[in-house]
Amino acid sequence: MEASLRTRASSSSGEEAKLDRSRLADAPPRFHLLAKPSGSTCNIDCKYCFFLSKEALYPNEKHRMSNETLETYIRQLLESHRTPEVTVAWQGGEPTLMRVEFFRKAVEIVEQYRKPGQTVKHTFQTNGILLDDEWCEFFRQHHFLVGLSVDGPRELHDTFRVDRRGQGTFDLVMNGWRQLRKHGVDFNVLCTVNAANQHHGRSVYRFFRDELGARWIQFIPIIERATEQTIQLANRGWSEQAGHKRVLYTQTGNRVTDRSVGAKEYGLFLIDVFEEWVRRDVGRVFVQLFDVTLEALFGRHLLCIHAPTCGLGPALEYNGDLYACDHFVEPGYRLGNIHETHMLELMASPAQRRFGMDKRDSLTAQCGRCEVRALCNGGCPKDRFSLSRDGEAGHNYLCAGLELFFMQSRPAMETMAKLVRNGRPASDVMAITASDDKRRGPYAPCPCGSGRKFKFCHGNHAPRHSFDSGSSKARRTS
Ligand code: SF4
Ligand code: SF4
Repeated sequence: MEASLRTRASSSSGEEAKLDRSRLADAPPRFHLLAKPSGSTCNIDCKYCFFLSKEALYPNEKHRMSNETLETYIRQLLESHRTPEVTVAWQGGEPTLMRVEFFRKAVEIVEQYRKPGQTVKHTFQTNGILLDDEWCEFFRQHHFLVGLSVDGPRELHDTFRVDRRGQGTFDLVMNGWRQLRKHGVDFNVLCTVNAANQHHGRSVYRFFRDELGARWIQFIPIIERATEQTIQLANRGWSEQAGHKRVLYTQTGNRVTDRSVGAKEYGLFLIDVFEEWVRRDVGRVFVQLFDVTLEALFGRHLLCIHAPTCGLGPALEYNGDLYACDHFVEPGYRLGNIHETHMLELMASPAQRRFGMDKRDSLTAQCGRCEVRALCNGGCPKDRFSLSRDGEAGHNYLCAGLELFFMQSRPAMETMAKLVRNGRPASDVMAITASDDKRRGPYAPCPCGSGRKFKFCHGNHAPRHSFDSGSSKARRTS
């Protein structure tokens, strides 16, 4: 089986094409594919979500994955992996639009094709709105890790995460969260950092930690690119709008929309969260970028964005089209269709290998001599549309913020790395930080760089802002 995997062709003959693994010496042993079973279709209309515009790639089609594509996808994914663990990751658009039955079938197919010794992790990213008892019982039964999209307390969340009538979705998302809690489903929070919440890092983080009980949190910067020609339309949003030509979002242009996070603001947001986390939550709350940064000190790269190269995170559309990355679902990055060519062959193709290597090979000279290059690695290529300090094109738009964050967090990260190397828990850094804080005293400037006194900044346990989170109701009912 290993030497001759077979894949169903979508040609009219219905023949299966052979895949000869011996031709694929450079094929990656594993990759992390994001499958979009309902394409980019969603039941809400977040203002910053350019994925909504991707519906325009497949006009006049019903964006739903067929059973045939589902089976081909799972079979090829399991065949492709040479590591014992495989992740089956669902996202959208909004994958709950496919209904539970589709995913029951997916789990059955996984069991049918799983190789001996292969373990499969299921993950599912959702806006939470359709979650009910049936969904959550299913997630619990099959140990799904569910990512819930929340941008903070009500006022911050509702700024951009709205429905088709422009109404905030906070209450609906909290209903979904209550369902996840009620059924004991493992969940993480995925929070975008955008123009509305960029100045509220600590409050947002505390809301997730204290009100939602989140123990895994990811922050994703919102950067919506546009050109001089498209910026006005882009600022209106990416969904279908009466009287306006719809723009298909592509990674072009060096303007950003009004909803995008500022570069420096992104770094300050992360620092605000980090300075809270390093005093109270190490080993208890897992913030993806903090884990990624610590692991990088051991030479391990958990996240493509800050790894030297990438190209191991393809995206699969509902019809079997495979793209280089979820952020590059656009015509120039379509690798092929899994009904015609096995996904492993597509992953090993020169185009995809070049895509991954370009991340390293296109670094600017400024990145090349950067002090935190080993942690940052120039960030994601989709964000490289600014000028470097030398005036070189192709520099990361977020650089000012990334540099701030990596420089600021580095001493504590290095302390944690040293602790771990000496067989001690990383969480011991909290006692070291507390003793440093005590030595400096409450009226010294806060180490976060805000310019405020420590006592009134990260030495203050009370939230800086009082948001209406709806949390008391949440606590009563969960
Ligand atoms: S383009 Fe960015 S998000 Fe996509 S695989 Fe590369 S680093 Fe990751
Ligand atoms: S911090 Fe800026 S200069 Fe340094 S590697 Fe990252 S993007 Fe490049």
